Parts: sequence; structure tokens; C-alpha cells
Amino acid sequence: MDSQGYFGRFGGRFIPEVLVATFEELDRAFDELKRDPAFWQEYVDLMSTYSCRPTPITYAENLTRHLGGARIYIKREDLNHTGAHKANNVMGQGLLVRRMGKSRVIAETGAGQHGVATATMAAKFGLECTIYMGEVDVERQRPNVFWMERLGATVVPVDTGTRILKDAINEAFRDWVANMDTTHYVFGTACGPHPFPALVSYFQSIIGVEAREQMLKSTGRLPDRVYACVGGGSNAMGIFQGFMQDDVELVGVEAGGHGVETGEHAVRLAASDASLGVAQGYKTFFLQDEDGQMRETHSVAAGLDYVGVSPILSSFKESGRVRFESATDAEVVEALALTVRKEGVIPALESAHAFAGAFREASQMSNDEIILINQSGRGDKDIFTIADAFDDPKWRDFIRRKAAQYDA
Ligand SMILES: *Cc1c(COP(=O)(O)O)cnc(C)c1O
Repeated sequence: MDSQGYFGRFGGRFIPEVLVATFEELDRAFDELKRDPAFWQEYVDLMSTYSCRPTPITYAENLTRHLGGARIYIKREDLNHTGAHKANNVMGQGLLVRRMGKSRVIAETGAGQHGVATATMAAKFGLECTIYMGEVDVERQRPNVFWMERLGATVVPVDTGTRILKDAINEAFRDWVANMDTTHYVFGTACGPHPFPALVSYFQSIIGVEAREQMLKSTGRLPDRVYACVGGGSNAMGIFQGFMQDDVELVGVEAGGHGVETGEHAVRLAASDASLGVAQGYKTFFLQDEDGQMRETHSVAAGLDYVGVSPILSSFKESGRVRFESATDAEVVEALALTVRKEGVIPALESAHAFAGAFREASQMSNDEIILINQSGRGDKDIFTIADAFDDPKWRDFIRRKAAQYDA
């Protein structure tokens, strides 16, 4: 990274003049924290007492036998508090907010997972919390909105534009401009203006640091390949950082949706027609039309349904350090079903993309090779979405009967 926050030609900071001082304050706070050896220990202590760090790695013996190729290991980020790797980032930023002496946090959320994680952190640290969410998403994600409100957050439905994530991002920036003295914007993934890509990746690197040590301890060597799903790119950056300097192939799996050829997907780095652009404060590959208008994206996994991608991953795409693939909704549902059935482990739909990408290749590898899959989150909390994805008739009946109770 250079001093302007560029990773190769990607990244940077494109922000309104009024926010410059706030970003500089954040830069300074992040720099100090990186240089303070006590900070990382404070972070690890928090994560090992409030979340579930170190998260284990699990040898997927049955899947390995079933697929008949490489030995498969799973890094269990699903065992974090609130059910995903997002806890690593929000709790880290919580400690940062405390150091900066601010009293309020804001965030934007699409599917609601980052909103729940942020509201949880705010409850724990006693911070005021406002979550911006597109009106459409508020309607779609009631269970997450329910928890944010119970956790004490104010959820603001955004009714501008197309009433989804990108509109919520605009509103969150507007709030920040008005309240920057008291407020920190908790960015949810390794995207956005500098220093957020580096900051979020820093907290998520705990995944890779642990995983490298755990693989050496349990297998005596490093894995041959590491797979992670890629939405904004934070869980992928997290695990990849543990193996960056090693002779380990890193594979990012994006949301192929209904298939790249249908245009209904969120593939930006694997074969796709995404192009370089500047939006939401940073420069990266975006799914946009010729006029630079952001396109609609689609994925069965709400957390991967995003038009931009981490500038750090864009630079690794260009340097060839990370290979990018995609998996379709159908492949993902199948991989999820197989993992549940064979291992009794329930990946989130997002994470199941990494499993689908890995399963496709595992059987072509030899049984003395090792692959490691990052299970970014757990699926059982997403029962509404997953039951829909499985098109389960008994679940549909249950929902109908439940709804009828309220009508009566
Ligand atoms: C939010 C989310 C993702 C996508 O975010 P990244 O920043 O790409 O990691 C992936 N998996 C789960 C379980 C999530 O909740």
C-alpha cells in the first residue's frame, strides 16, 4: 500500500472535503494502534473472552472420503459470536472507537448481518448506534432488524434511490458529515475509502494468523490451497493474509448467481465484464454500465450481493497472487446440502460458495494434498433464506400457518 492508500492502481480515498479531517484522525488512530504491541493482545483477549477465538479448524473426514481427492479442512469462523467473521472487524473497530473517545457509531447494512454485529458491539461498549438500511432490505430482513432493535440500535429505513444497500451507504456518509465529532462509521468490509480496506483487513488477519499455526500443528505442513468466498472481500483477506508469503494457492470464490452469462450475478474478478471505476469513495472493479451506473447484482447469498470489491483483492487479481472463481446459486445450495449431510456443519450461503469452489477441484487433487476452506459464517441463523433456497414445502406450510395465527 502506498501513502495514499493505493494497492497498485486500486483503492485511494475519494471523499467530500468536509470529511478529510475525520479520515486523517482515523488514519492517525489506526497507525498508532498498529504500532502499539499491547493493542493486538488487547484485541485477542477481547475476542477470546467475548467471541470464540481461536476458532478451531475441523478435518472434514467424511467430505474428504466422499469426494476422493485432497484432504479438506475447515476454518470455523461460524463459531464466532453473532455467527460470522464480521465479529472480528466490529469488535476491533469498537476498541478503536474507545481509543478515539467517540460515543456513537453508525453503519450501513444490506442483509442486516453487519448491522447486527455492529449493534452487538455498541451494546457491549455502551455506544449509541444508528444503522442505515434500504427500505427494501428492512422489509426483507425482519429477523435481523428485530435483533438490531433489541440490541438498542436505531434502524433508519432509507427510502431514497432504489432503497437498497448503496442508498444506505450514501445516508451513512451524510450522517457522518453532520456528526463527525462524536461518531465513527463502522465500515463492514475491506472496501471503501482508505484506510478502511487496510483497517478491516488488519482485524480480519486474525483468521489467517490462527489458521496457519493450526494447520502446521495438526498436519505438520501448510495447505496447498485456501478457499474463501468474496463479497466485499474481508473474510478472504482475513484468511489469505496468513499464507501470503507462502507457496500456497489462494482462491477467492464469487457469487455466480444464475450464471455469469445471464447478467444476474455478483462476479467482479473471476471472468466477468466488471470494469474499473470510482464509486463509494474508492477505486476498484465495479459492475457498472457504460455510463458508470451501478448494475443490479444477484446472489442467493445476500452478503455477496455487492457491486464493488476490495481494492486489495483487485490488486491481487492483477498480480495473479489470488485466483478467482465463481459458483452459481444452484452449485452453492448443493454444496451446502452436502456439507450439512456429511459433516453436520452448517455453512452460511455466503460461505457455501467457498465450499462449492473447493469441492469442484478437490476430487482432481491427490490425497496427499490439503485444502483449507474458510467457513465465514453459520447458516442456521439464516433459516428463512436457506429454507427458501431449498424450496422446502414443509417450511412453507409452517410459515403459512404462522401467518394465519396473526390474521385470526
Ligand atoms: C457478510 C458476509 C460475507 C461477505 O463479506 P466479506 O467481506 O466478503 O467477507 C461472507 N460470509 C458471511 C457469513 C457473511 O456474513
